[in-house]
Amino acid sequence: MPAALDMPSADVAQGLDHFRTLTALQQPTWPDSDALAAVVARLEQATPLTLPAESDALRDRLAAASRGEAFVLQGGDCAENFAEAGATRIRNKIRTILQMAVILTHGASTPVVKIGRIAGQYAKPRSSNDETRVVAGRQVTLPAYRGDMVNGFEFTPESRTPDPRRLEQAYRISAATANVVRAFTHGGYADLRQVHQWNRGFMRNPTYARYEGTAIEIDRAIRFMDACGADFDALRFVDLYLSHEGLILDYERALTRQDARTGKAYATSAHMLWIGERTRQLDGAHVDFMAHIANPIGVKLGPTTTPDNAVALAAKLNPDNLPGRLTFVARMGAGRVRDVLPALVQRIHDEGVAATWITDPMHGNTITSDNGYKTRRFADVLDEIQGFFEVHRAVGTVPGGLHMELTGDDVTEVLGGTGSIDEAGLARRYETLVDPRLNHQQSLETAFLVAEMLQGF
Ligand code: PEP
Ligand code: MN
Repeated sequence: MPAALDMPSADVAQGLDHFRTLTALQQPTWPDSDALAAVVARLEQATPLTLPAESDALRDRLAAASRGEAFVLQGGDCAENFAEAGATRIRNKIRTILQMAVILTHGASTPVVKIGRIAGQYAKPRSSNDETRVVAGRQVTLPAYRGDMVNGFEFTPESRTPDPRRLEQAYRISAATANVVRAFTHGGYADLRQVHQWNRGFMRNPTYARYEGTAIEIDRAIRFMDACGADFDALRFVDLYLSHEGLILDYERALTRQDARTGKAYATSAHMLWIGERTRQLDGAHVDFMAHIANPIGVKLGPTTTPDNAVALAAKLNPDNLPGRLTFVARMGAGRVRDVLPALVQRIHDEGVAATWITDPMHGNTITSDNGYKTRRFADVLDEIQGFFEVHRAVGTVPGGLHMELTGDDVTEVLGGTGSIDEAGLARRYETLVDPRLNHQQSLETAFLVAEMLQGF
C-alpha cells in the first residue's frame, strides 16, 4: 500500500526544485553547508504537521470567503519565538482569535474562517542584512535577526550567526504548538458555551463590557436552541488553521510531501503559506516554489503593485483559476489604500481572476515614535480597514477578511485604542522582537468595528 504521504517522486521533485535555479531573496547565509544538508535530510523524514486534506478544506473555506459567504480572520504574532511557545501564551492568542471570531459572527451573521500566524511563524524578512549597535562605546555590526528559525535575537556574534539546527528546533516547537492548538480547539476550550469564560478577568473597560453583552446574547440563543432540542455538536470545536510566511525555502522544501490521493505536492509545515511583500518577484524563487505546491497561498501586495503584477502573479500561482487557492493580502497603508487598491481590485475582477481579497492593515502603517519605538497608530489600522471596505464597495467586489498582527497579552506596542496607549505608555510592556502587535483589548475593539463595517456592507 502506498504511504499516505511520501517524499516527492523524481518528476514531482524536479518541478519543486526548479526554484533552486532562481534568485531567492532573504535567505540566511548558513556558515556550514554540511550541517544544513544534515538537517534538511532529517526534516525530509519528519512527520508532517498538517495534511493535504486539511489544506484542501481550507481552500474551500477561502473560496467561500471570496464569494462573501464567510469572512477570514488571519492573525498572530509578527514573529513567534521559541522562548514564548508555552501553553499559556498560545491559549491567550487562541482566545483572542476565538473572541474576535465570536464578535464578527454575532455582529455580522457570517461564518469566520480562523487562521493563525502560529506554529511556524519563525522566519522574518529584513530590510537590511545586518544591524549596527553601539556596544560599550564601540560600533558593532552583526547579522540582522531573521527569526528564531535562523538565528538568535541576542546581539552577540554567536547568537546572530545563522545556525541550521534552528530549522529543526523550529519544526519541533511548531509540532508541539500545533498539538496544543488542536487540543485547545477540539478539546472543549473552544466550545461556544465557554463564550463567557474567555472574558474572565478582563471586565473593567468598555470593550470587555461590550464583549460581555455579546456573550450574554449568544448564551441566550444557545439556551433557546438547546430547549428546542437542536443538536449542538458543531459548537464544541473550531477549526483553527495554521499559516506562516513561506520564507526559508530549504525548510519548506524539506517538509513538502506528495499526496497519494492526488499525486500533488503539499507543504506540510502549515495549511497555508504566504509570500511576503519582499519576496513576491514574478521570476523569483519563492513564487516558483509556491506555484509547485497545492496549498492555499497568500501573496502580500504593497503599494508598488501594479494591476499587471497582480494578474501575472495569479496566472503563475493559480493557472487553473481555482477559487480559494490564491489570497491577495493588500497592505497598502492607510494613506495609500484608497488610491492604489481600486485599480488592482478592478482589474482582477475584470479579468475574471479567482482571488480572495483580505486586508493587512498593519504593515503599511509602521512608524517610529519620538521615543524610538517601532509602532503603529490604532487609528491608521482602522482607517486602512475602512478604506479596504470602501474600495470593494465602489468596485462591487467582496472584502474577504482581515490579516492582523495580534497577541493575547496586554502588551503596549500599538498607539491608541480605548486603553489610550500614548508614546510614554509604549515603554510599559513592549515585548515584540520585530513588529508591534495589537494587544488583546485592541484586537476585540477591531473586531467590533469590523463587524459594524460588515453589517453595513
Ligand atoms: C509580516 O507579515 O510580518 C511581513 C513581514 O509582512 P510584509 O511581507 O507584508 O511586509
Ligand atoms: Mn510583521
